[in-house]
Amino acid sequence: MAKPILLSVDDDSDVLRAIERDLRSQYGAEYRVIGSDSPAGALELLKQLKVRNDGVALLLADQRMPNMDGVGFLQEARQIYPEAKRALLTAYADTKAAISAINQANIDYFFMKPWDPPAEHLYPQLNDLLDDWQASYRPAFEGIRVLGTRWSPRSYELRDFLARNHVPYQWIDVELSANDPETKRLLEALGPEASNLPVVLFPDGTKLLESVPADVAQKVGLRTRAQTDFYDLAIIGGGPAGLAAAVYGASEGLHTVMIEREAPGGQAGMSSRIENYLGFPAGLSGGDLARRAMVQAQRFGVEILSQEAVGVRTEGPYRIIKFADNNEISCHALMIATGVQWRRLEAPGIDRLQGAGIYYGGGTTEALSCKGEIIYVVGGANSAGQAAMNFAKYAERVVILVRGDSLSSTMSQYLIDQINEMSNIQLWTHASVAEGHGESHLEEISVLCSDTGKVERVPASAMFIFIGALPRTDWLASVVERDERGFILTGPDLIRNGQRPKGWTLDRDPFLLETNIAGIFAVGDVRHGSVKRVASGVGEGSVAVQFIHQYLSKV
Ligand SMILES: Cc1cc2nc3c(=O)[nH]c(=O)nc-3n(C[C@H](O)[C@H](O)[C@H](O)COP(=O)(O)OP(=O)(O)OC[C@H]3O[C@@H](n4cnc5c(N)ncnc54)[C@H](O)[C@@H]3O)c2cc1C
Repeated sequence: MAKPILLSVDDDSDVLRAIERDLRSQYGAEYRVIGSDSPAGALELLKQLKVRNDGVALLLADQRMPNMDGVGFLQEARQIYPEAKRALLTAYADTKAAISAINQANIDYFFMKPWDPPAEHLYPQLNDLLDDWQASYRPAFEGIRVLGTRWSPRSYELRDFLARNHVPYQWIDVELSANDPETKRLLEALGPEASNLPVVLFPDGTKLLESVPADVAQKVGLRTRAQTDFYDLAIIGGGPAGLAAAVYGASEGLHTVMIEREAPGGQAGMSSRIENYLGFPAGLSGGDLARRAMVQAQRFGVEILSQEAVGVRTEGPYRIIKFADNNEISCHALMIATGVQWRRLEAPGIDRLQGAGIYYGGGTTEALSCKGEIIYVVGGANSAGQAAMNFAKYAERVVILVRGDSLSSTMSQYLIDQINEMSNIQLWTHASVAEGHGESHLEEISVLCSDTGKVERVPASAMFIFIGALPRTDWLASVVERDERGFILTGPDLIRNGQRPKGWTLDRDPFLLETNIAGIFAVGDVRHGSVKRVASGVGEGSVAVQFIHQYLSKV
């Protein structure tokens, strides 16, 4: 934990050195002692300390200084650090001014120069002041702080990124906490930069303005550059399938890299509670599952890259992956585990308000913000049911909108039973979203009721959409064979009329999870015909490693 600060200000360098020396010898173990030779410089320094979230225990200023006297400085400094103890250093001739400052400017104490011996004329009084200060001091949050507004899509994207990558941070909604004095002081210390939201403040005092996940990724140490340019096994996608392949690959001696553009965990990482994964009778959150799997993968030496793969090509036995920043790596075996992404809801207002009250997927970061509000969950599958259960802990009412007449054909019975138990979850059947309304954020939705043909317009603070998912594999179209919806074909699906895929030269059929390009495998939700479940993704990722060994033995 950073030590709180004792700041002394004096334009006379001899006096400044002497006071710093005495403060340090007595308090150096518990406090950081900093000196400044001008009030203006000290005020600037205080603003920087405020942005860094450092604690300031004492401000000690000489009364006689050019441009601004000690009392003036202490009064201004009070706007930035109101809780710091404030004391003046005065000459005998200034005693009167000091006494009136105590009365008028709320200064806590004044010390006479010279203060020798300090054990008599300085430390006893300072001990009292610092004891008082310590009694009400609450150490500030020391991690990353994100300043933004709830309805800003960019703020949402950033918070979601940090949460899903398990990077702890403190969220400061500058609109909601506009009347909070500490937030006001922080914004004042930031000055005009505070308008470049979202702003990310790091404990080392650096900041990112209008920040985006890629910049923050680098800053928090998520690796964006590969350590070498060649690997035995490269895995694109860090969902359950990719993570399992990484653990099995690396644990069996393959030099393995896993490339993930958002956050390890994939869709499963968005799940508030996975209840059907073997070995976890009480269920576990997707975030926990992802964190555990990542630790396991890293323990076996998997390199995890925070990058987006945008292209794949083959050169003889090498499979080459191109990243969004134009860097490339190559490998012998490539595994595609890119899963699926949410299908878009096509209705007016939806795209415009995405991230500002309308979200695709779980939005676990949003759950807390929904306290006491009415929110809508669109879709009738398990993912929608889990999200509704999670939001019901915070929201006043959660309404699930489904096109059909019940949940029974789309959701597992255990979830339907849980939902029925919740008095604040309501099911609205025969309903589909016709429009989203709101200026800067979602305020109302129009719902088309197919049984009556009427459109109802209802207030909504937030709407979470879970209406199925599709693989986004267009960037792989010229490399691997896909079905009409973009799912990648593997193994027996590639054999047509007894014929191996076009261009296939090996004297064996493609392995079970191998694509039409030898050495390129596809596992998990992205694979044609896969069972869309965590356990099956994990199973495919693990099994594929066996085929990779067989493939590598002949490369
Ligand atoms: C909210 C929710 C709840 C669910 N609950 C359950 C449950 O309780 N039980 C259950 O069994 N299943 C559940 N599922 C389904 C389960 O999560 C999925 O079947 C599983 O996550 C699929 O794993 P995957 O690794 O194949 O793909 P995904 O989990 O989709 O992971 C793919 C990853 O690849 C990354 N990626 C994509 N393209 C690129 C690229 N070009 N470059 C780099 N990275 C890329 C993505 O960012 C993503 O992280 C749930 C799904 C959701 C959405």
